Amino acid sequence: MKAIALIAHDGKKTELGMFATRFQEFFAGVPVVATSTTGAMLEKKGFNVERVESGPKGGDAQIAARVAEGTIAGVIFFRDPMGKHPHEPDINMLLRLCDVHNVPLATNPATAELIVRHLG
Ligand code: PGA
Repeated sequence: MKAIALIAHDGKKTELGMFATRFQEFFAGVPVVATSTTGAMLEKKGFNVERVESGPKGGDAQIAARVAEGTIAGVIFFRDPMGKHPHEPDINMLLRLCDVHNVPLATNPATAELIVRHLG
């Protein structure tokens, strides 16, 4: 079964936590892969998550590689549009590879809800 990737920048982690809790049943039934700090936040809420590196240390790039490998069903990435990020090239790579491989990508809760409702 393909995994759902969950990533949130610091300014959006609370929002992602609330989103995951709202759709707890869905996320309990699929493999979830997350960047390290996002994953730790989700684990605290009781979710079972595979954690890769933190975003600035290559986590987004690791998830991008999985998108290219075809093991990701969808990416939910709550970006902070107000922040500047040292790993912007990795973020852009992830977004680009979602488009290259036609993998559903949500960067805000409204779109994420559409994906979850469709896949759920
Ligand atoms: P984090 O990484 O979950 O480790 O904070 C997310 C990111 O900054 O892309």
